[in-house]
Amino acid sequence: MAISRFIAENLEHSSWIRRMFDEGLKLKARFGAENVFDFSLGNPDIEPPAAFARTVVELASSAERGTHGYMPNVGYPDVRKKVAARASRDQGLDIPASSIVMTVGAAGGLNVILKTLLNPGDEVIVIKPYFAEYLFYVQNFGGVFKPVMPRADFSPDPEAIAAALTPRTACVILNSPNNPTGRVYSREDIAAVARVLEAHGRASGRMPYLIADEPYREIVYGGVEVPSLMEAYAETLVVTSWSKTLSLPGERIGYIAVSPRASEPAQLLAGLAFSTRVLGFVNAPALMQRAVASLLEEVCDVASYEKRGKLLAEGLASAGYDFATPQGAFYIFVRVPSGGAGRLEAMTREVEATGEPDVTPDVAYAMHLKKHNVLAVPGAGFGYPGYFRLSFCVAEETIRGSLAYFRDALEEWRKPAGRGTEKI
Ligand code: PLP
Repeated sequence: MAISRFIAENLEHSSWIRRMFDEGLKLKARFGAENVFDFSLGNPDIEPPAAFARTVVELASSAERGTHGYMPNVGYPDVRKKVAARASRDQGLDIPASSIVMTVGAAGGLNVILKTLLNPGDEVIVIKPYFAEYLFYVQNFGGVFKPVMPRADFSPDPEAIAAALTPRTACVILNSPNNPTGRVYSREDIAAVARVLEAHGRASGRMPYLIADEPYREIVYGGVEVPSLMEAYAETLVVTSWSKTLSLPGERIGYIAVSPRASEPAQLLAGLAFSTRVLGFVNAPALMQRAVASLLEEVCDVASYEKRGKLLAEGLASAGYDFATPQGAFYIFVRVPSGGAGRLEAMTREVEATGEPDVTPDVAYAMHLKKHNVLAVPGAGFGYPGYFRLSFCVAEETIRGSLAYFRDALEEWRKPAGRGTEKI
């Protein structure tokens, strides 16, 4: 076989998000795009602020020589200085420019961090449900993925984290505002995690790093505060991007900020620079570095997301679905409703017959929704079966149009198996 076993095995389990997206394309070809309600991808449909296009045109037209050349692996010094000022405000600490590493999105930043921190066999703790790519990022560097259960409200459970910590724990990743739950972790939640990590570090002699994955920091609703992890715990690295907050996911631009209170920051930063180089990123995209540095006060249309989230949440609630109202990001994580007699079993058998292994109730319900032209991502894709994720970065008409379908799907689901209209 030409490709590695690791890749070959994982190709077979390609992500549920991608699979549902592909299913969506098929349905759209069959029924017309306006009759398919695709809540599968977290791809912002709101355009970047108008200032973005103006800035890029201006920067690209600059007659200054050398603006397309290589630069230090960590990014342009003037860009890092501006980003450091903004990060200091967000994080409530004085972060110097030397602590900023410009990255190829948050995903690039996470890989740079894990490459820098992990020895083979080192463990990385994440909270379920989690951004599915974390698993692969950890495996990229021989790490061991250790997902732990959250509390019932999807906040991190300090006791579950404490139980998972071992002398091999290199880091804990927290993502707030959270994909897929929309939960924003409170100051108390974060302080409790920090206490657990400090106690473990003192006892074991190895203080784990805390990685704050914050690409949704500015997308919050009802004025909820996103407390700083850096303030709470010394060994913190923040990783973020402008993918969601400026609607630029295709432009691949983000940064890492290392806490000024981290131990041996110079070595850590030298490591991050080295990893940026040898992972082949070399540096974050030059034009985008300059662009975001000029747009640090801009943010996408958060009010629009809030409106859409509310519309979807109200529609789902009135149809009888159960979920926690999102505080941030643009996802709703919905509990799989209980079905009529034999309904879940019948749908499970039907999905299994297509060759699908491990059909959990969320997979069955996502396939049931698909019959109603609604695309959702099963919670299994986030390590949390029993729920499904709806991404509301879609047009308002899509949400309005979908509500009757969500309702029909649930009504049919609640009937005993063999009853109800099959649409496809
Ligand atoms: N972390 C989380 C929690 C995400 O949801 C995403 C993207 O959806 C990323 C990281 C990666 O973001 P980027 O596109 O900036 O690499």
